[in-house]
Amino acid sequence: MTRSATSIITQLRTQHVPLAAYLHRFNLAESPTCQQCHQSPETVEHYIKYCRAYKKQRRALKYAIGHATDVGTHLLGTRKNIRHLLKYIHDTKRFFESHGNLRPESQTQRTNTDDPDDETAAGITWG
Ligand SMILES: [Zn+2]
Repeated sequence: MTRSATSIITQLRTQHVPLAAYLHRFNLAESPTCQQCHQSPETVEHYIKYCRAYKKQRRALKYAIGHATDVGTHLLGTRKNIRHLLKYIHDTKRFFESHGNLRPESQTQRTNTDDPDDETAAGITWG
């Protein structure tokens, strides 16, 4: 993964992420409410699982991870699905300003796509 991809995943896992609910706690946002849908506080869970503004992107994510797996914050802890989640993050463009381009690395750069440990080299400790 790229440095910015690793960074955003870490931030999402710790909930220390530039989403409205977090920024509001530090007076860095006027309101904790999601500015994309105005329905709920913009938490990590809201962003990944519920926000109606990202229905289309979420459908693609759901398709990628398969019907047996629910979309949710638990995906942050699964090596297997992290790149699909990164694609979702990229597709929503929600963190483009703070993290730049988060496009997942292309398949051609991967030497062995079946290796379940291929992302450990990225410096993330998988709890
Ligand atoms: Zn929302």
